[in-house]
Amino acid sequence: MQRRFIAGAVCPRCSAMDKVVMYDDAEGRRVRECVACGFRDALNEQGHPTELPTRVNQPRAGEQPLAHEDEVQVVRLFDVASPQPKE
Ligand SMILES: [Zn+2]
Repeated sequence: MQRRFIAGAVCPRCSAMDKVVMYDDAEGRRVRECVACGFRDALNEQGHPTELPTRVNQPRAGEQPLAHEDEVQVVRLFDVASPQPKE
């Protein structure tokens, strides 16, 4: 799995800079992850954040839900405006 640091990216959770890596997960989704705090979310093909699909594999009638399916937590991004320096 190839991980690339996103230059200048700031983690929306812990505000650490240059700690965010981008990679494709096992299901082919492009995700970014903060190596400092563990924050993780999905990116679209343009590399912008997007909401994770609630369920990729909808169980069909008569089928058991897949055992490997995990609960997907959608992380809402709040606007991280450039912080005002305090002087
Ligand atoms: Zn972080």
